[in-house]
Amino acid sequence: MMQVLSVASEAYPLVKTGGLGDVVGALPGALSGHGITVTTLMPGYPAVRAHIGDAPLVHHYPNLMGAEARIRASYINGFPLLVLDAPALFQRDGGPYGDRSGADWPDNWRRFAALGRAAADLASGAIPNWRFDLLHGHDWHAGLAPAYLRYAPGPGPVAPSLMTIHNIAFPGRFDVSIFPFLGLPPRAYSIDGTEYYGGVGFLKAGLASARAITTVSPGYAREIREPAFGMGLEGLIRTRSGDLTGILNGIDPKIWNPQSDPALAARYDSHGLNLRRTNKRAIESGFGLTQSDGPLFTVISRLSWQKGMDVLAEQLDTLVALGGRLALLGTGEAALEAKFRAAASRHPGRIAVALGYDEKLSHLLQGGADAILIPSRFEPCGLTQLYGLAYGCVPVAARTGGLSDTIIDANEAALAQGVATGILFDSVTSEGVANALQRAVSLYARPDAWSRLQVQGMAADFSWHQSGARYAELYAKLIRGPA
Ligand code: ADP
Repeated sequence: MMQVLSVASEAYPLVKTGGLGDVVGALPGALSGHGITVTTLMPGYPAVRAHIGDAPLVHHYPNLMGAEARIRASYINGFPLLVLDAPALFQRDGGPYGDRSGADWPDNWRRFAALGRAAADLASGAIPNWRFDLLHGHDWHAGLAPAYLRYAPGPGPVAPSLMTIHNIAFPGRFDVSIFPFLGLPPRAYSIDGTEYYGGVGFLKAGLASARAITTVSPGYAREIREPAFGMGLEGLIRTRSGDLTGILNGIDPKIWNPQSDPALAARYDSHGLNLRRTNKRAIESGFGLTQSDGPLFTVISRLSWQKGMDVLAEQLDTLVALGGRLALLGTGEAALEAKFRAAASRHPGRIAVALGYDEKLSHLLQGGADAILIPSRFEPCGLTQLYGLAYGCVPVAARTGGLSDTIIDANEAALAQGVATGILFDSVTSEGVANALQRAVSLYARPDAWSRLQVQGMAADFSWHQSGARYAELYAKLIRGPA
């Protein structure tokens, strides 16, 4: 069996703030059929500690980045889990990255340097009886792991490393004054090492040090070569483009399947789309929307600039004028939350918002709303459109990144050929969003065309089947080493 150490801050169902958690949680299952054991290493946040209890000790650090820490071994979804149990770093009220007010923890550099160091120790023989063939790091939280393997490895064989970019917009940049505390040699503070715009960049360090890089869609892999998407890392991405591939995220059919989903009021398949109406009624009554068979839009999203939520918030009167209704589930920037709340009070019965994080409700919305709005300015892969496709909740999305890789726009040719699965629009502007809403409402008024969109979307296979095979191939290539 090939042994891979997957290093991340989130893994569903223990910790999830977005798509990263879903993907890291699904990866071991996606690869288990390929002769690969994926062990997940994550921080011991309160929910993780509660899950593992006093799981067996693997290693004790009297002092890891200034904190006492232990690595403990347990399981997640039936697959091996290693937890970096360091209460001083991770046992805190609030979220994984900040306190209840949303402010980042001031010592995030220390917390995730500790994660990176522990990962590198596991993957380079510093911890007796443990070895891995490959280290797979996710996003900036794991970015220092490949850098430690490169500049300060343990005494054993050093595993090759792979970094996956789930979102390049989170660079993990810290002041240069932290560098001396990282335990890296001075030469690691260089332009092809950890240096990032005069500070230390955790993602940069990982991208510069890993043997290979992936990101979560082919479209985003192309986009991040450009300044508009690369967030200052486009130069490095271009230099490393020979080592960069895009592998789409998959969805886990055990968790996202309308035929068996316990969160739905009615379960269905593509032959029983009329059953979705029961779910629609449940949404209407839960959100206090007027009951109607007219188009019901949903949004399930972080409320942020990336997601284009500012533009959408300006088009809610248009949405209502077109005869639409909206049930929104999201959390994020206070100013955006206020805008959506204001729209809900302007349009009672037509617009309703649930400002919070609610996993179960997100399933019901996919199972009962007619269309999901995703006006993202950039979208590395996006999962909510994949869930929408699987549930017959037609995605209406910006043509960017993973959205354009996974949705086939309902232009006349695609409709005629029976391949369309959603609506893509080009510009995240008031006009772009208004036009997309108009197109959606017009198509919805053609029930045959609309249900074909739904059926075609539900037939699209975005399970991990293909993407698992792509990762397996890449892992094998990296373990074999340079030809
Ligand atoms: P990102 O990771 O950028 O936030 P993705 O589309 O890749 O975007 O993944 C978002 C994930 O988080 C999806 O699983 C989505 O259903 C979920 N999600 C987002 N907001 C909420 C919310 N308020 N309540 C429940 N689930 C949410």
